[in-house]
Amino acid sequence: MTPVAEVRDLLRELPAVDRLLREPALQELEGALPRQALLEAARQTVESYRSLLLSPRLPEDLAKLDLSPGKLAAEAARRARRQAEFSLRPVINATGVILHTNLGRAPLSGAAVEALTRAAGGYCNLEMDLESGERGSRQAHLESLLCRLTGAEAALVVNNNAAAVFLSLHALAFGKEVIVSRGQLVEIGGSFRLPEVMAASGARMVEVGTTNKCHRRDYEEAITEATAALLKVHTSNYQIVGFTSSLSTAELVSVARAHGLLVIEDLGSGVLLDLSPFGIDSEPRVQDSIAAGADLVTFSGDKLLGGPQAGIIVGRRALVERIRSNQLARIVRVDKLTVAALEATLRLYLEPEKALRELPVWSAFCADPGTLKRRAASLARRLKKVLPGDEIEVIPGVSRAGGGSLPLVELPTFLVAIKPHRISAGALAEMLRRGEPPVIARISQDCLCLDLRTVPESREKCLLEALSRAAR
Ligand SMILES: *Cc1c(COP(=O)(O)O)cnc(C)c1O
Repeated sequence: MTPVAEVRDLLRELPAVDRLLREPALQELEGALPRQALLEAARQTVESYRSLLLSPRLPEDLAKLDLSPGKLAAEAARRARRQAEFSLRPVINATGVILHTNLGRAPLSGAAVEALTRAAGGYCNLEMDLESGERGSRQAHLESLLCRLTGAEAALVVNNNAAAVFLSLHALAFGKEVIVSRGQLVEIGGSFRLPEVMAASGARMVEVGTTNKCHRRDYEEAITEATAALLKVHTSNYQIVGFTSSLSTAELVSVARAHGLLVIEDLGSGVLLDLSPFGIDSEPRVQDSIAAGADLVTFSGDKLLGGPQAGIIVGRRALVERIRSNQLARIVRVDKLTVAALEATLRLYLEPEKALRELPVWSAFCADPGTLKRRAASLARRLKKVLPGDEIEVIPGVSRAGGGSLPLVELPTFLVAIKPHRISAGALAEMLRRGEPPVIARISQDCLCLDLRTVPESREKCLLEALSRAAR
């Protein structure tokens, strides 16, 4: 038979949609899923085969194509089930990357989840002053807390830190020049590139210094009548090491003061805790930048702060007021859910030990390697029972902060390394990712590696079950 005749026959053989609906695979789902959804899935399945047969790139072996109603109905049933699932689902993060941007960055604390739930399901005093009964500000729930924690005079919370930087520059430096060191022109995950954000804000970027060195005189020589501010950007996802120099916030402030200019600092992560007990002195704290005289500091809510996605602006009252009253502030305004979760997160920082203990980001960060080793060994022991034949061992490794934070910090951990005997580690990773709940793991040297640092103990059983399902 010529391919054309063969295709014509196959097209004729394609079962009709209502024929598929009578098949047991779809009949079983009647009642569980709306009829409309089954109809839609059956239609899409038949249609997908029709386009396959009509496409210029026909499958190699047409004769082997199974177009039986049973086969297509089973496929339609899978499609209908998949479409009925939520698209956004909880996953188990077994990568050991604490702030995984693709996995939603910071998990919220129990307190934040409770606050979120309380605010979400009903009405709340988002913009009502309950004392006077008059209209209030949604920022009021956060501002005094932020001022207390950072020492700043005023605060404003917007949708994310990219918006915080953009809005600050737009409101304070539109049409003016802003001087920034070449060593600080950061890109964060592709969508945030400092030069582009600055250009969009209407501020004119003036780059000074070289990649590795920037001196006081570089800034001074670039200052003109049109200069509005000196910008310092924390190189949050890389570090320039070796023969380097850059100005501290205090040094930048002294240049700015001498010329009547502002200092704006984008800190990225926004750490409020002292990390020196962990041997980390590379991460500036918000309160230190404010104390050093920065006029405005911006940072994220969902990086090392451990809260919801948000951009936080703290600094001098007059400047924050100018930003607040800018037209664009409305465009990047936060909703009640963010306000609720952020208030609860910030309250934990009033007692730093509480923040370390109760914020998932920090408890993962502080997890003791000895405990991680014991947990890994216990998981490995149980796994050997469900995955007989696979090579399973506990090996030392490193976890990372991730999310463009603390790029050089390596947290010692212990990994459960699985070398499957029947399939590749990549194939096992794919099965786990497609399972329910999806499990995201790392692959290293033909092994699937699980890092329990980012898996709450309460989810270990679930992880074990996901692995034993994948083994079947
Ligand atoms: C992460 C980051 C941003 C962007 O913050 P988002 O909250 O993701 O919008 C901006 N600047 C720096 C230095 C960062 O690290």
